Amino acid sequence: MIFSGYLPAVSGKTMKIDVITLFPKLVSALKHYGVVGRALQAHKAHLNVINLRDHTPRADHRVDDRPYGGGPGMVLQYQPLARALQHLKSRLKDAPHVVYLSPQGQQLHQAAIRKMAHCQRLVLVCGRYEGIDERFIDAHVDAQWSLGDYVISGGELAAMVVIDAVVRTLPGVLGDDQSAHQDSFETGLLDYPHFTRPASVDGLTVPKELLGGDHQTIARWRLKQALGRTYLKRPDLIEKHGLNDQERLLLNEYLAEIKA
Ligand code: SAM
Repeated sequence: MIFSGYLPAVSGKTMKIDVITLFPKLVSALKHYGVVGRALQAHKAHLNVINLRDHTPRADHRVDDRPYGGGPGMVLQYQPLARALQHLKSRLKDAPHVVYLSPQGQQLHQAAIRKMAHCQRLVLVCGRYEGIDERFIDAHVDAQWSLGDYVISGGELAAMVVIDAVVRTLPGVLGDDQSAHQDSFETGLLDYPHFTRPASVDGLTVPKELLGGDHQTIARWRLKQALGRTYLKRPDLIEKHGLNDQERLLLNEYLAEIKA
């Protein structure tokens, strides 16, 4: 099932993310780096990583088997996945939102990340090998999300992308909450260009509009750049966003400036 629209209610409680994976150390590395690592350590969100191998009923601790019908590769079995999820659910009052990271899912986008950030309890399931037994998807998965139209070796990197993107939208995670709101896609446009000190380096300068300290001039310049680069790089976003009179004026100004 693609994203179903089902979302547990936001309650103001700390978001909890569980990841079911064969490579817990890989996913746990998120706790050690950057703004998301700091947020997890400060319990602004909880990350719980579940080792799929701990839930296999098999004495040999394996979690995979050959595909019915033959063909290359192995498939993650239904039982360890279902047992891992059942173990988790048995300790919860409310049903979690279960996401399987898959190249066959809907392509991730910022609005989906924002929706996931409203789940109080998110479970991310990482596939490996040829993927996971389809019956687990049919019976237990609420949504499938993809990084894009290419195949990677396992769902861990995709889950880590989701966690990073979700956690940085949570209140209090970024130093300045506005910085998440001005990111590309949040406004429907790509972000404007950024510059930092020095004002001149290797003969390259900073746009004069950013140097005078006039907030209106800066805001106007930034919106013009955001509109212009979105128009050039992602015209589909401009079409979706639509343009009001002021935005149309700014975009025309931008296009005239780059032609001049
Ligand atoms: N045979 C599968 C197919 O073609 O649909 C691909 C399996 S892939 C080698 C192994 C696992 O990596 C998948 O089960 C999934 O969890 C993850 N994966 C691969 N590509 C992905 C993508 N683009 N987005 C999200 N997860 C992906």
